[in-house]
Amino acid sequence: MASKGTGTKGKGTGGKGAGGASGAGRRRAGLLAAASLFGAVVLLLGALGLLGGLQGVAAQVRAERWRPEQPTGPDHVTARMRAVRDAVEKEFRLPGGSGCYREDGGIAGGGEHPLGRACDFMLGPAGVRATGDRAELGDRIVRWVREHADDYGIWYVIYRQHIWSSRHPERGWLPMEDRGGVTGNHYDHVHISVY
Ligand SMILES: [Zn+2]
Repeated sequence: MASKGTGTKGKGTGGKGAGGASGAGRRRAGLLAAASLFGAVVLLLGALGLLGGLQGVAAQVRAERWRPEQPTGPDHVTARMRAVRDAVEKEFRLPGGSGCYREDGGIAGGGEHPLGRACDFMLGPAGVRATGDRAELGDRIVRWVREHADDYGIWYVIYRQHIWSSRHPERGWLPMEDRGGVTGNHYDHVHISVY
């Protein structure tokens, strides 16, 4: 009886003990799980960073393939830019047409317009913010550029104060500084530069 009782007690204590131990065990397991989840997240971020880094390197290598060209012809644009302009105009109906060469690029350093390596695709009248279908047309042109950048040697595209560069595709669609105004911030047109 006594031994049974002790046994029971022992069991009880054991049970309790086990209960306490399993509580601590659960906490430990929880901590371990949290730690390994944290580790996994760190690893994943590291892998993504590495992947992003590799993507960046691959993009740089692709960019180097495109040797800069000089403008030719009466429109004063490069053959590469002309091919992009013609492809965009063939693919989309542009309400405001396009403009490429300008003596004054209008930004610090001049940009690519004076070099004949940039075009603006107008979504409507200059200075009027594109809305509705016209704004959506801008989005479609940007999508087209991102899909075809490697085929045409497109360097970057700007629209609605955002920029995407084929040199840094891993960075995605990045917000830009405020250049002031609808046109300066590209709310009325899509800008494309080529290498
Ligand atoms: Zn432009």
